[in-house]
Amino acid sequence: MKALVKAEAAPGLTMRAVDVPEIGPNDILIRIRKTGICGTDLHIWNWDEWAQKTVPVPMVVGHEYAGEIVEIGSHVEDLKLGQRVSGEGHVVGHRSRAARAGKFHLDPETRGVGVNIPGAFAEYLKLPAFNAIPLPDDIDDELGAILDPFGNAVHTALTYDLVGEDVLITGAGPIGIMAAMVARHAGARHVVLTDINADRLALAGRVADITPVNVAEEDLMDVRARLGMREGFDVGMEMSGAAPALSQMIENMLMGGRIAVLGIPAKPIETDWVAVVFKALTIKGIYGREMFETWYKMIAMIQSGLDLRAIVTDRLPVAEFATGFKRMGEGGCGKVVLDWS
Ligand code: NAD
Ligand code: ZN
Repeated sequence: MKALVKAEAAPGLTMRAVDVPEIGPNDILIRIRKTGICGTDLHIWNWDEWAQKTVPVPMVVGHEYAGEIVEIGSHVEDLKLGQRVSGEGHVVGHRSRAARAGKFHLDPETRGVGVNIPGAFAEYLKLPAFNAIPLPDDIDDELGAILDPFGNAVHTALTYDLVGEDVLITGAGPIGIMAAMVARHAGARHVVLTDINADRLALAGRVADITPVNVAEEDLMDVRARLGMREGFDVGMEMSGAAPALSQMIENMLMGGRIAVLGIPAKPIETDWVAVVFKALTIKGIYGREMFETWYKMIAMIQSGLDLRAIVTDRLPVAEFATGFKRMGEGGCGKVVLDWS
């Protein structure tokens, strides 16, 4: 089969022929139809320090996808051939304390599809049946292929009660924009989304009913005054991985504010713990998606009118994957979706 492979320990990815994976009794084989390019894939493409430490070579990458089940392991009972699916990209064990308590997203043995084990940028993907997410008819393959990052947005956004709250989201990447859509859908009052990239903020302003703010040009204090906010933001979602963004968030929270951190800083960053203490802030790290409550909420919110479609800005046949990665690297696009059919 055709697959996008990290073929050697160097930047780039190679389209090459590899064997179709052999499934075990608890697995399914998925014929991939659409895939999304994630920021993580760009790290792997660039072969940065994190990728060098994490990704074995050679390796089929990719973890955002939708496709169709074409083979089913002998122990799998609740899935059908031909069924359309996406899938949870964290493959968990069943031995840890968290896993045995049913908190699969906290399993320390988690392995990432397309990061630690062979991924979805291929004609066929082997996946534990446990990880399969059947797609209802009203979620097409394109939306199915971006559920994984949407799940990061939903997991973060639904960490705290948002009804009537003033929300600050730092980082208007695809996940920040989707989190802003969720905050609006879930009933927040003001949703302020910051970035320093004008293209990203323009996209955010077009596709979500939020207040985009370029923090390279405008002071958040002025924005708060303009919106009539008196004491600061109730809920913060850090989605940039940028140290200045987290500092700015801490500075602009109200007393007792709640922050969820999804963004991954490239290296350890300095934090004003005095402000965290005296403002009595709650800070929670967010990893992946809750299995499988986040998936349930994602699908339910799309079915109840949350319109994600506009976050997909680039659609390309997989032969043009290099263009897709180039677009991602430029940093102005939303989601880039590759077509494998
Ligand atoms: P992205 O890189 O596309 O977007 C980040 C945005 O932050 C960019 O638009 C950038 O211009 C902006 N930014 C940079 N400096 C800023 C500043 N000072 N203030 C405000 N914005 C600033 O990333 P994404 O794909 O949308 O993902 C968001 C973050 O979440 C990334 O850090 C990613 O690594 C992380 N992530 C975490 C998990 C997890 O499980 N914790 C999963 C997926 C992604
Ligand atoms: Zn991803």
